[in-house]
Amino acid sequence: MHRILVVEDERAVARGLVYALTQEGFAVEWAATGERALTLASEHDPHLVLLDVRLPDISGFDVCRRLRASGRRQPILMLTARDDEVDKVLGLELGADDYVVKPYSLRELHSRIRALLRRAYGELAGEPAARRVVFGDIELDLERMVVVRRGQAVDLTPIEFRLLRHLVAHPDRPFDRDALIEAIWGYESDVGNSRTVDVHMRHLRQKLEDDPADPRWLVTVRGVGYKFQPPGSA
Ligand code: CA
Repeated sequence: MHRILVVEDERAVARGLVYALTQEGFAVEWAATGERALTLASEHDPHLVLLDVRLPDISGFDVCRRLRASGRRQPILMLTARDDEVDKVLGLELGADDYVVKPYSLRELHSRIRALLRRAYGELAGEPAARRVVFGDIELDLERMVVVRRGQAVDLTPIEFRLLRHLVAHPDRPFDRDALIEAIWGYESDVGNSRTVDVHMRHLRQKLEDDPADPRWLVTVRGVGYKFQPPGSA
C-alpha cells in the first residue's frame, strides 16, 4: 500500500483530498504547514508527496528544495495556482516531478499520481493487481469492492466495506469512532454516531473473524476505538 503525504493548508481542500485518496486505497498523511511536511516526510518516508505551493510558513518550493537536499527522491506532485507559469517552471527546477493546476479534477489528480508511482516504483505499482490485500483467509479487492473469505464472497454492506477498507488502509493505526464516522460517511455527514460504528464493527467481525468475541484482525484499542491488526503484528 502506497503512502501519500498531502501538504495543503486549506483544511476543506485537504480533507477532501485525504478522503478521496483513502478511498482510492492509499494510506494518507496530512500536513498543513511546510515544516510539518518536512517532519512527516522524514518520519514516514511517503511514496509520494502532494505539495501545495502556497503554504502559511515556508513555501511549497522550499519544502521541495529541502526534501531533495536531504536526499529524498520520492515523486513530488506540486499543486499550483491557475496559470502561474512561474510556479510550474520553478517547481520542476527545484526537483518536483510534475504539477497539477488548480482547480483540478480528482480524476486528473489520480491519473497523475498513478503515473508517478508507476514511474518511480515499477509497472505494477498502484495498478488494480496491487490493490488486493490479503490477510489470513480473507482477501480484499479494493478495485472491485469484493471481499472473499475461504474462497467464498462475503456479503458486506457498502458501509461495512468502507469501514473495513479504511482500517485496512492504515494497518496498526487506531481510529476513534469520530474519525471512522468521518471516513465512512464523508465529512459533511452527521448520519453516523459512535454507536453506529460499534454496530457495523460487530457485523464485520461476525462476517470476518473466526471468533468475533476475540477478534484477530479488527481489534478494539482500549480508550481509543478500533484498528486493523495486520498479519505478523499480533
Ligand atoms: Ca495553500
